[in-house]
Amino acid sequence: MLARRLSMGIGFCAAAALLSGGAWAADKAHVHGESKVKLAVEGNVVEIEFESPAHDIVGFESMPKTAKQRAAVESAVAALKKGEALFRLTPGAGCKLEEAEVETPLAESGHKEEHKHAEEEEHSEFHAHYHFRCAQPGRLKGVEVRLFDSFRTMREVEVSAILPGGQRAASLKPGANRFDF
Ligand SMILES: [Zn+2]
Repeated sequence: MLARRLSMGIGFCAAAALLSGGAWAADKAHVHGESKVKLAVEGNVVEIEFESPAHDIVGFESMPKTAKQRAAVESAVAALKKGEALFRLTPGAGCKLEEAEVETPLAESGHKEEHKHAEEEEHSEFHAHYHFRCAQPGRLKGVEVRLFDSFRTMREVEVSAILPGGQRAASLKPGANRFDF
């Protein structure tokens, strides 16, 4: 059981690496307004994977063309790196963000020369991966997802979780942004 959960946790990391490639946008269409969060609790570690249409983060999905658009991408990446602000784990559990990675083709210069997919112009995404370590994991009761405060066009976040007690899923919305473990 432990090994299985661990390997799924690693699967999330591998998925992050896989999804960071520019081909992702061409592989699968997303729904604007819908972001996804995958969460795994294993021992004292909480792993969170986040993926969102760029539309919901910066309001556009083509490569940034103006200084204003480039600044929007830059500030979105900076905001997404603040995992502790976006995902508020139960305060008493003493969870610290140890690692945060944010990736989007919109932030990659010279990206177009490497991947000439026509579809890439139509859909792009932001991906983020967070690794938390908790001092008192037994006190973990849930997470408050505060993405809606930072990204006003975000309407829905689908959460799926692998918890010590089993798998759970929920759909979060502004005003209903808590996911109980
Ligand atoms: Zn799109």
